[in-house]
Amino acid sequence: MTTVPLSHQTDSWPFIKAPLSESDFRLLFTQHPIPMWLYDPVSLKFLLLNNAVYDFYGYTAEQMAGMTMFDIRPECEYERMRAAIDADIDFGKPQLWRHLKASGETVEVVTYGRHTVFDGKPAVLVIIQDQTEIAQARHEINQTRSLLDSLIKNLPVGVFIKDMQDDGRYILFNQAAEAITGKNALEVIGKTDSQIFDEDYTQRFVSEDRDVMENDTTLTIENDIPLPDNCRHVRVVKRAIPAQIGGNSRYLIGLMEDITEKQALQTHLTHAALHDALTNLPNRVYFSQHTSKLFSTSQPQQGHALLFLDVDHFKHINDSIGHAAGDELLSQVARRLRTYLRPEDFIARLGGDEFAIIHSFDMNNPDYRQEISLFAEEITELFQQPYLLEDNSEYIGCTIGVVLAPHDGQDIDTLLRNADLALYAAKADLRGTYRFYEKSMRDAVEKRHRTAMELHKALQNDEFVLFYQPIFSLTTDQITGCEALLRWQHPTRGLITPDDFIPIAEDTGIIAAIGAWALQQACQDATRWPEKIRVSVNLSPVQFNSRNMLDIVKSALATSGLQANRLELEITETVLLSNTAYNTELLFELRKLGVRIAMDDFGTGYSSLNYLRTFPFDKIKIDRSFVSDIDSDKRNLAILQAVVSLGSAFNITTTAEGVETQEQLTRLKSEHFGEVQGFFTGKPMPQPEVCDFIASHDY
Ligand code: C2E
Ligand code: CA
Ligand code: CA
Repeated sequence: MTTVPLSHQTDSWPFIKAPLSESDFRLLFTQHPIPMWLYDPVSLKFLLLNNAVYDFYGYTAEQMAGMTMFDIRPECEYERMRAAIDADIDFGKPQLWRHLKASGETVEVVTYGRHTVFDGKPAVLVIIQDQTEIAQARHEINQTRSLLDSLIKNLPVGVFIKDMQDDGRYILFNQAAEAITGKNALEVIGKTDSQIFDEDYTQRFVSEDRDVMENDTTLTIENDIPLPDNCRHVRVVKRAIPAQIGGNSRYLIGLMEDITEKQALQTHLTHAALHDALTNLPNRVYFSQHTSKLFSTSQPQQGHALLFLDVDHFKHINDSIGHAAGDELLSQVARRLRTYLRPEDFIARLGGDEFAIIHSFDMNNPDYRQEISLFAEEITELFQQPYLLEDNSEYIGCTIGVVLAPHDGQDIDTLLRNADLALYAAKADLRGTYRFYEKSMRDAVEKRHRTAMELHKALQNDEFVLFYQPIFSLTTDQITGCEALLRWQHPTRGLITPDDFIPIAEDTGIIAAIGAWALQQACQDATRWPEKIRVSVNLSPVQFNSRNMLDIVKSALATSGLQANRLELEITETVLLSNTAYNTELLFELRKLGVRIAMDDFGTGYSSLNYLRTFPFDKIKIDRSFVSDIDSDKRNLAILQAVVSLGSAFNITTTAEGVETQEQLTRLKSEHFGEVQGFFTGKPMPQPEVCDFIASHDY
């Protein structure tokens, strides 16, 4: 903006035509909004004051007429005032004073004094500028600044500012920055990096700073800062402070944070998230990550064997010696495996007593299968060494399912599922061994799955039928009863025997509904037979888990009207193995109804004689495997004889199953068996046929 001298402007000001008169001046003076006065330099009294003075100081004209320069000042200013008068210094340039108002309030003012002449005598003209608001604003600025200063000083984040137009000299370095770097602000401020740090650091810092300033970017850098007694990990964020009024930025601000602990915690958390706390082995998550990375980066000829390990009878250790011992065992297992494996083998604990090992091999090696077999075998042997638990040597084993990638699956989920199948097959064969996965295992599972699905529909569609196999008394040669044997009339697969679907029905729980149906149907069918002939119905151990077993039997009897003593329930030892107290009680309850209870498949399971004491069975059915080679195997005969003795001692009927020949029948008769059942005496047949069969044998 250019200034134009006032005289040049006059023409364009229409109001100012002639020089101002004295009365105009007086008016101007009196009405002027800025307080001003004239005073007598000798008496220091006011000579002339304008209205703004009265407004500002709060005195009336009368009051001020008698007042001197001292009367508008607080006492603390008297001395300075006197000195100013003596030295005649209060003139020419503005002076800052404290003045006193009528109200007693002190205010800051700037005064401008000029020597002049009034009424022919020397006078001083004083113009007053109120500083209160300016002082207030300045005060506030100061306060804000000191607040900012103390804020920066006390920020828990290290802050530094460099002046990039002055070689990057530090102009701010707060306390936190001192603590983080171990450098005192006094040794930093006013210096450049090269004066503070060694060459390496300086070079790095300078190039970072250049990047920030030239590209106007925000840079985040992590650095290790060596301190005398340790090393800190520091994260620094650098950026340019934007220039206030355009142009290039001048200052660079850096924020630093000591992330040593945070990073240590992060490292710890990452480790914890990927490792099993007990054994410190990689966990399932880590295992998945590792394998998917491994598979995706493998060379074409590289194969990977996944060994899925399960500790045999681990639950037994946990239950008998306690969980602490169980944990200790798993730790020992982990250590033992880790020591045995090659460094490049990967091992993880997948959960519970399951471990997985990834053992890579060369597919070009024609003997790789043997090599892996040997590896698996060595691991099973390794397991068989005793473990020291609570001062005792414990012996355990492990069973292994083996899958080969990529042959048996491309992704880890498929591989694990297949390894699980191989493990399952190995367990079924013999614990303490290993099995390679085979396609047939998956087919079997899929078939099983299909069957499970179909079983549900089968019940609704009435696809089940009961066949009846007659049981003969060896003393009277008469039919004493018939065993109900379930069949599934499958719409496409034809007649399916129970061994092919009962285990699946047991797994899925649908056996409860199927069993209830069979019980109901068998009781119904038996009402068509002569009264002396009983019906035997097989009960699955799983049915005992459904708590309404007793009601189901009661209802079957009630709806059919069959006499309770014509119903015989066949159970296996498994029923007495689990839920013992409840199941035994249930057997007694059933017995109370008048129902007979038979022990089926005797000799195949644990055959604890204890079970014969737990519950007074009405019948023992010896498994057909003992009957089949009764003539060739003397031991079988001995067992059969023992069962006969047991039966007579406990007064329990003995029944031999699976009689297929006349010789077997004769033999059993001579051994004094109570009853026989088998293809030789009568095959299982549908209800209409069995009715005829009974009629034809009823003599
Ligand atoms: P189980 O209770 O031992 O039934 C006897 C099995 O032996 C029957 O097989 C029968 O057909 C067969 N069998 C009878 N005589 C001979 C013989 O002389 N030689 C040979 N080799 N076998 C003979 P099935 O009908 O296939 O039943 C198999 C198993 O399925 C039964 O064994 C039983 O455990 C179970 N089961 C059958 N029906 C039911 C049922 O309604 N519910 C339950 N839970 N299980 C059932
Ligand atoms: Ca049976
Ligand atoms: Ca049986």
